[in-house]
Amino acid sequence: MEKILTVCPYCGSGCKLNLLVEDGKVTGAEGADGVTNQGQLCLKGYYGWDFLNDTGLLTPRLTHPMIRRERGGPLEKVTWQEAIAYTASRLADIKDKYGASAIMTTGSSRGTGNETNYVMQKFTRAVLGSNNVDCCARVCHGPSVAGLQATLGNGAMSNSITEIENSDCLLIIGYNAADSHPIVARRILKAKQRGAKVIVCDPRYIESARLADLWLPLRNGSNMALVNAFANVLIEEDLYDKTFVAQHTEGFEEFRQVVAKYTPEFVADITGLAPQLIRDAIRMYANGKKASLLWGMGVTQWGQGVEVVKGLAGLALLTGNLGRPDVGVGPVRGQNNVQGACDMGALPNTYPGYQSVTDKAVLKKFAKAWGVKSLSDQVGYGITDISHKALSGEIKAYYVMGEDPLQTEPDLSQMRQAFDALDLVIVQDIFMTKTAARADVILPSTSWGEHEGIYTCADRGFQHFNKAIEPKGDVKTDWQIISLIASEMGYPMKYENTQEIWDELRALCPLYAGVTYEKLAGLGYVQWPCPEESHPGTPYLYEGNHFSRPNGKGLLVASEWIPPREAVSPAFPLVLCTVREVGHYSCRSMTGNCTALQTLADEPGYVQIHPQDAENAGIEDNQLVWISSPRGRVVSRASVSERTNAGAIYMTYQWWIGACNELTLDHLDPTSKTPEYKHCSANITAIADQ
Ligand code: SF4
Repeated sequence: MEKILTVCPYCGSGCKLNLLVEDGKVTGAEGADGVTNQGQLCLKGYYGWDFLNDTGLLTPRLTHPMIRRERGGPLEKVTWQEAIAYTASRLADIKDKYGASAIMTTGSSRGTGNETNYVMQKFTRAVLGSNNVDCCARVCHGPSVAGLQATLGNGAMSNSITEIENSDCLLIIGYNAADSHPIVARRILKAKQRGAKVIVCDPRYIESARLADLWLPLRNGSNMALVNAFANVLIEEDLYDKTFVAQHTEGFEEFRQVVAKYTPEFVADITGLAPQLIRDAIRMYANGKKASLLWGMGVTQWGQGVEVVKGLAGLALLTGNLGRPDVGVGPVRGQNNVQGACDMGALPNTYPGYQSVTDKAVLKKFAKAWGVKSLSDQVGYGITDISHKALSGEIKAYYVMGEDPLQTEPDLSQMRQAFDALDLVIVQDIFMTKTAARADVILPSTSWGEHEGIYTCADRGFQHFNKAIEPKGDVKTDWQIISLIASEMGYPMKYENTQEIWDELRALCPLYAGVTYEKLAGLGYVQWPCPEESHPGTPYLYEGNHFSRPNGKGLLVASEWIPPREAVSPAFPLVLCTVREVGHYSCRSMTGNCTALQTLADEPGYVQIHPQDAENAGIEDNQLVWISSPRGRVVSRASVSERTNAGAIYMTYQWWIGACNELTLDHLDPTSKTPEYKHCSANITAIADQ
């Protein structure tokens, strides 16, 4: 038996593990001594490799290229030569007829790796001719990136996962670590065991709330009001660090004026929280010598997510909890390589290394390196633009790599109509996802375990992952497929291996210039910025309180609270909020094909409901139910729990039958264009005959 050292393909915790390989087949996994996981794994790390054996439990593996020549016709198996020629010619035709902006592509935040994301954005920019490339950060931590870039100059976690346990106060808001990042949850537990104070703001009594010193069960949709009240108390009670604010920030006066009215008493009706509890919580945070903020989708998946993130950055700036170890702002990124997809420029507004598409010097540098005359300086479309731009006819082709928008985007009925309006859908993936089933061209790729590359975990840490087994079927690596299409379209793109791609990337990105394959060998771990090869990497940002904005100062920004877009009504009296399931991941094409994980939870999923709401609706635990919203209806199974707040129900988005995105709302944050997955109106009714 061989042990192949690699990195877990699921969440952004970046756990190192050994895949156990016998006779060319993966038979198990064990924790390795990685920087973030120190030998430990969660159940997805231990049992999440089984999809490599093509179990077919949920959906089959894609093993050969296919083309659907007519809408509604069958998918036909073709050779790679034909698939590449067909794809290239259809893309070229659409570009000629409708212009470069009529084509949209995606990077992938999943198993494919940074090198592929670099190649996909290069293909989009240098060959297709637009900045219409995006990734799933748009639907998760896009507001963290936008909010932190505006206030601190950098959109990533300021400090490291390993530092969490050394903080003496953790203020956790909208972040269920136990389900999202179990290994980060262990760090929270360790901090508590070392004497740290823990404050948890969440409507549900989540696992972190069980160990918290203070639990603030705020009303769904009141984040901005609560964050403003925290800032109000810091200022009114003179708890803020005046020297830090004077020396290292700007915007204090405007900030103070906005939060002035948000006293704990003023927000009591909005948040449903006792004023004293709000005061106690923020006093606890202000008293910390090393206080950290952690947040997740409960902050970002709102129509006002960017403004809430700016407000959270304001709390850290007011208290001087930045620019040193064990403090900071922690948007804990979800998918294993969502940080990396952003790092590699799979974003419509930045090139790799967060270099702006509107900066002429940046365009000149990339155009010269890539051997093209010019590059577009227009910010491209994001993935949440698809439903509108396809229906309006502005986007005609969608090249989807390692994403499943027909399962993961909001308001799936509208998204299906948008797909029907497209002339061409290309899907490059490992499984027959819902989106792949709708494709005109299927390009089957190798999976995690079958190729190598580099991921970036949630705290900016680069790690190398390895190939463990030979791929089955007639598949190619993602970067090979994109390179073949580029070459067929008249732009020769030839790479021998991922290291060659990586070296091209780092020559163009000062942030990553010193991160070599050699440094990442074995258990190597390097956090960006790492500007030269002798540099060890950067565990925490903003040393010396120098922020990454033009004048080096942090910007204090506060905004008025805006209620969620869709209020409850007599027909739909409950709030529906989407959450995470610890045993499954993303669209479930991987974990749904793992035997051990599938036995833990399976279709049609479940909906968490408070006992009082269940009683009102005549529903018992484990009963099949209909969940409806103004957009549709799905079947689910009731999970009656005291840990859920009354008036709200919670569903995870993995289930293919009980797909909660049939119900969610396509209301977007105006800056980040992130959907308000956390709040729409809904109803629940029992299914009588079971
Ligand atoms: Fe670690 Fe996340 Fe993988 Fe679990 S899913 S083993 S926490 S990286």
